[in-house]
Amino acid sequence: MNSIKDRLSSFQEELPDHCTLVAVSKTKPKEDLLEAYEAGQRHFGENKVQELCAKEESLPKDIKWHMIGHLQRNKVKYIAPFVHLIHGVDTLKLLREINKQGQKSEKQIACLLQVHVASEETKFGFDEGEIKELVTSNMLEELPYVQVVGLMGMATNTSDEKIVASEFRGLKNLYGWVQQNTNNRNLAVSTLSMGMSGDYLVALQEGSNMIRVGSAIFGARN
Ligand SMILES: *Cc1c(COP(=O)(O)O)cnc(C)c1O
Repeated sequence: MNSIKDRLSSFQEELPDHCTLVAVSKTKPKEDLLEAYEAGQRHFGENKVQELCAKEESLPKDIKWHMIGHLQRNKVKYIAPFVHLIHGVDTLKLLREINKQGQKSEKQIACLLQVHVASEETKFGFDEGEIKELVTSNMLEELPYVQVVGLMGMATNTSDEKIVASEFRGLKNLYGWVQQNTNNRNLAVSTLSMGMSGDYLVALQEGSNMIRVGSAIFGARN
């Protein structure tokens, strides 16, 4: 069970149908992505705009590219034309810039609002109150080129599964609240992105339907 292909196929077998696997290929060479592609993988995640653009240019066009890292406003324009989903939207200013670039590219750009669930200070994201305010205000209606399709979060980096589970559960509850409270605001909220190599099993138990897995597929990064 050593090749990328083998590791991918065990994921593909183990994952429930409703869950999308985003293969996080940051820092990995094109050849590794191609190996995953040839094994059937189509969703890939990157966290640096420059690397994402370079890979998009040289790899097959039916790949769905996910921007999973912190995104600076001045770089949205580079990924707007092709990005499939932006996971880490953490400010209203960023949403406005995505709207502007979506308009230029004449497409609606799908986004996930990042929620701050971990105890670490360094993790970006909105808090629960800000999410509730944003999705029930009319702010999103003023951004027609942005399509908020769900929430994304990262749990505390700890081996204590109870902490991780309770953070994911909090995020799942907020996701449920957002779904219920945005029914008539033409918001199609259907994606809950949580879980990485170290905690995806817990995330799946807590209701994730999109996991972002890097090292468990491609091996450790330098
Ligand atoms: C790097 C990264 C991942 C994948 O991490 P692994 O531990 O290698 O699975 C997932 N999500 C985000 C936001 C990342 O930056």
